[in-house]
Amino acid sequence: MSNRTFTMIKPDAVRNGHIGNILQMINAAGFRIIAMKYLKISKQQAEKFYEVHSERPFYGELTEFMSSGPIVAAILEKDNAVADFRTLIGATNPAQAEEGTIRKKYATSLGENAVHGSDSDENAAIEGNFFFSGLERF
Ligand code: ATP
Ligand code: MG
Repeated sequence: MSNRTFTMIKPDAVRNGHIGNILQMINAAGFRIIAMKYLKISKQQAEKFYEVHSERPFYGELTEFMSSGPIVAAILEKDNAVADFRTLIGATNPAQAEEGTIRKKYATSLGENAVHGSDSDENAAIEGNFFFSGLERF
């Protein structure tokens, strides 16, 4: 069981003014913020981050979108962090997300679904290391 995960508040949710509400839901669910930054990534950086999806038909659209505006990136801590955070954000497609999940409330579409959450302990570590140095974690 891991105790850390990595998240991004995606450009759609930032544009729509949902940063505060999403952070509030994350805190209310018992996650502690270990590291956080507000930044815009380049298309190349998005391509690197989502490299596992490079063969998928939506890769171009996804990386274009993720580099289209600022995001909030964060490392979060809680018992069972990866799985519990996936539960909190809900299904990838907001049309299938459970009531009360972040994506149900704030996502607009399958492609623009408000938040990212790591899918494994291994990827949580890789993704956290992509954005943050040791000096940026508390
Ligand atoms: P994330 O990794 O962003 O937390 P996820 O793990 O729920 O999302 P993945 O399968 O990893 O889903 O897909 C990564 C992202 O690619 C999704 O969040 C979504 O924005 C986009 N995506 C996935 N499937 C499609 C699709 N069929 N069409 C368009 N975009 C898609
Ligand atoms: Mg994923």
